[in-house]
Amino acid sequence: MKTGMIAVLGAGESGTGSAILAREKGLDVLVSDSGSIKPAYKALLDANGIAWEENGHTAEKILSVDEVIKSPGIPETAPLIVQLRENGIPVISEIEFAARYTSAKMICITGSNGKTTTTSLVYDMLRRAGLDVGLAGNIGNSLALQVAREDHAYYVIELSSFQLDNMYDFRADIAILLNITPDHLDRYNFEFQNYVNAKFRITRNQTARDAFIYWSEDPVIDREIARIQPCATLYPFGSSEKHNVAYTDGSHLVVAAKKEVEPLEIPLEQLALQGKHNQLNSMAASIAAQLLDIKNDTIRESLRQFAGVPHRLQYVASVRGVRYINDSKATNVNSCWYALEAMTTPTVLILGGKDKGNDYSEIDELVRQKCHTLVFMGLHNEKLIEHFTALGYADGNTAPQAERKYFSTHSLQDAVMACAGSAHDGDTVLLSPCCASFDLFTSYEDRGDRFMNAVRHL
Ligand code: ADP
Repeated sequence: MKTGMIAVLGAGESGTGSAILAREKGLDVLVSDSGSIKPAYKALLDANGIAWEENGHTAEKILSVDEVIKSPGIPETAPLIVQLRENGIPVISEIEFAARYTSAKMICITGSNGKTTTTSLVYDMLRRAGLDVGLAGNIGNSLALQVAREDHAYYVIELSSFQLDNMYDFRADIAILLNITPDHLDRYNFEFQNYVNAKFRITRNQTARDAFIYWSEDPVIDREIARIQPCATLYPFGSSEKHNVAYTDGSHLVVAAKKEVEPLEIPLEQLALQGKHNQLNSMAASIAAQLLDIKNDTIRESLRQFAGVPHRLQYVASVRGVRYINDSKATNVNSCWYALEAMTTPTVLILGGKDKGNDYSEIDELVRQKCHTLVFMGLHNEKLIEHFTALGYADGNTAPQAERKYFSTHSLQDAVMACAGSAHDGDTVLLSPCCASFDLFTSYEDRGDRFMNAVRHL
């Protein structure tokens, strides 16, 4: 029986935005959060006359609604979600809901790594081109709130696999899939394929009029494309000219998304975002911009001047000839690999934190090539000590003369001091920890901010 009521589960940025949009569209809404709701969101809900509850859900109320909008943080296995499914009540994401009420062009970005960087770069290009554009998804204000308050002509949306999980009728005009490496497997029944399927939902409902931009050298993406044959027009990018509409020719980045438009060429050293991974991110963003008829001059300007995103290979300062780089967002081994790959000087690497079942062997070769010193920073460093001892690194406290050393520390201050003590003029100190931050910090931002602060006080 239809009750004309919807429930919003989770009153964070996306939930509060969804509730306000729903209210504006004349729907009856109940907001329910299993934890406490931040005062700012409570005030917003109150100001809009929206009923809310916190520290628990009233199941019988929620089980009587027509539809539920779920925060991406709530897993499918949460008891209430299981009950909703058993009762056949649709559960959707904020993006799915908000998209019903706008006719804007949607440019959506997903991948295991590089989403925020690429989303921010596309947004920068569209803004420089003077387009009326909003930034949404995992970054910026919620899509729903923007649709309710100041609808735009374009949205650039960063989509996590959790958001994609609850999208059904949504269609991306332009979809970008950067890469797929194992992540969040605990939310996918420890089946990699489930995570892959979630990522590929970004192509759902696309037709030949829509664009699917993807990294053609990712073996997982390549295999899936052959298997599911997306309906969208394909725009692959990669390191060689063959089969790709954007590529590097050794010294330039080349982008030729549209036959009728001159290819864009830019010397690699002029790119504001350095490193191989950022060449790929730059290609993906530039293809999207060309498809939106943005002039090559504007794209080039953005590629040269884009300021970057905090905590991603962010330059902090040079102290006594040593460059300090904050890559605190590298919370998995693959992103640390790309950070190391981008290093052009001898490097002191800080790594450690909350281990998510990491396999460090992926970075062995680059660590041996580039790092004379490793500084472990975490509550539990045993796994790191074991792994890197086997790779030939000795405890710097007992073997100070060793060519390859590690220091085991348990606080940021001690880690930074150990780095300052081992880095030489011309070296780089890189915080790219491979791990989540929750053992010593409240978030990766907290970790990065405190690192930058400590460096500035050296
Ligand atoms: P996400 O939003 O997907 O977490 P970010 O743009 O925040 O990605 O970057 C996270 C980390 O991943 C950074 O530390 C960066 O060094 C690394 N990274 C960025 N782009 C890529 C890419 N295309 N492939 C692999 N790693 C990347």
